[in-house]
Amino acid sequence: MKLRIALLLILPFLLLARGKPNRTQAPIVFTHATIIDVTGAAPRRDATVVITGDRISAIGDNISLPPDAHVVDATGKFLIPGLWDMHVHWYVRDTFSLFIANGVTGVRQMFGNSDLLRWREQIAKGSLLGPRMVVASPIIDGPEPIWPNSIAVRNEDEGRKAVRRVKQWGADFVKVYALLPRDAYFGIADEAKQQGITFVGHVPNSVSPAEASDAGQKSIEHLTGMLITCSDKETELRDKLVKADSPEARGRVQTTALETYDEKKAADLIAHFVKNQTWQCPTLTVLRSNAYLLDESFRRDGRLRYIPRLLQQRWNFRVANHDSAITKKVLQKQFELVGAMQRAGVPILAGTDTGNPFCFPGFSLHDELALLVIAGLTPVEALRAATLNPAKFFGLDQSLGTIEQGKIADLVLLDANPLLDIRNTQRINAVVSNGRLFDRKALDKLLGEAEAAANR
Ligand SMILES: [Zn+2]
Repeated sequence: MKLRIALLLILPFLLLARGKPNRTQAPIVFTHATIIDVTGAAPRRDATVVITGDRISAIGDNISLPPDAHVVDATGKFLIPGLWDMHVHWYVRDTFSLFIANGVTGVRQMFGNSDLLRWREQIAKGSLLGPRMVVASPIIDGPEPIWPNSIAVRNEDEGRKAVRRVKQWGADFVKVYALLPRDAYFGIADEAKQQGITFVGHVPNSVSPAEASDAGQKSIEHLTGMLITCSDKETELRDKLVKADSPEARGRVQTTALETYDEKKAADLIAHFVKNQTWQCPTLTVLRSNAYLLDESFRRDGRLRYIPRLLQQRWNFRVANHDSAITKKVLQKQFELVGAMQRAGVPILAGTDTGNPFCFPGFSLHDELALLVIAGLTPVEALRAATLNPAKFFGLDQSLGTIEQGKIADLVLLDANPLLDIRNTQRINAVVSNGRLFDRKALDKLLGEAEAAANR
């Protein structure tokens, strides 16, 4: 009996201790803040927000402050929920702080490996500084995968086995890829359903986005397969794409797709996504980067100082091998599609494809927000794509995604109103990550350390 009481006393402490690096930290209080409500309700002015441990413990306009509180005067400043980048490939451990320094308190890692699984746990425990990580399986691709370290599958049976294997391995979700044969893809889809694990990724060339949506693929990345589907030569082009064996051949398929774009087919596809509520992670950042890689002014980017030399070399290699002749036209169409999807009610996620050329950890999420607004989202819709939508996508909206009492304290304090100009998300005054406060000075220190680590 005594033991049980002792356990009851100690248990809440143990639960709280996990994922809470700041047990000894005094409560943090923001006073006179304007809270941006990403649900679309009016901003709440002159609010006091109290953070105790890793939680938002109180919000009000007339709260008596805890005596030992660390008070931050947020007069004239704007509080938004911590941001998510829903599509990253980032493995440079000593620079994970770049996400935090940019207010990105959560990321979806899109190509899992065992390092990431370890870092996911270390971050959750607070022994490594970085964003919350939700980690994909290794990419599951066809018999001759595009990327090394992918899982190659040839048929339905191997597809099913791969799903069971990566679930046991510890992946948070399954990532599918471009060269999967049809039967392998549908095997993966069905097995994922049976195993209770979600699957996301590229729509394989052999499958249409509408079929992927019906098969239960939870998110589609980079708008894969969409332009072809919107062409009135869809069947012919999909066949050509499966057989295409060079960038030139794929380029020709895209050119024809643009020339034969059919608004009605686009509307049908969008209606499909609305019906199934299939999430779209357009990653406009990487689509734009692909289109502009050959422009020298685009490549002259001060943020390169945070990118390890070796990775920069790989980026330049891809520049040298890039053909952007039609990608700018394609990009224009993709912007239109994203705007149309948002207006129709397709749920959108903000993601960058960080790790790819000129997609920078943390920084580029703000590029993505601005690009989403160019595509036709309102600033609050863009913010939602990086806050409440990711929380809903993961089923974590009870604890993340908005600024409410009881929720986890992932917050960004801005010097200017992001609803007036979305680029104001870059004017970061402070970040709270899992209850831990970083003021501007601390954020600059993180940036300096990450720069040093990248150049080591
Ligand atoms: Zn990616």
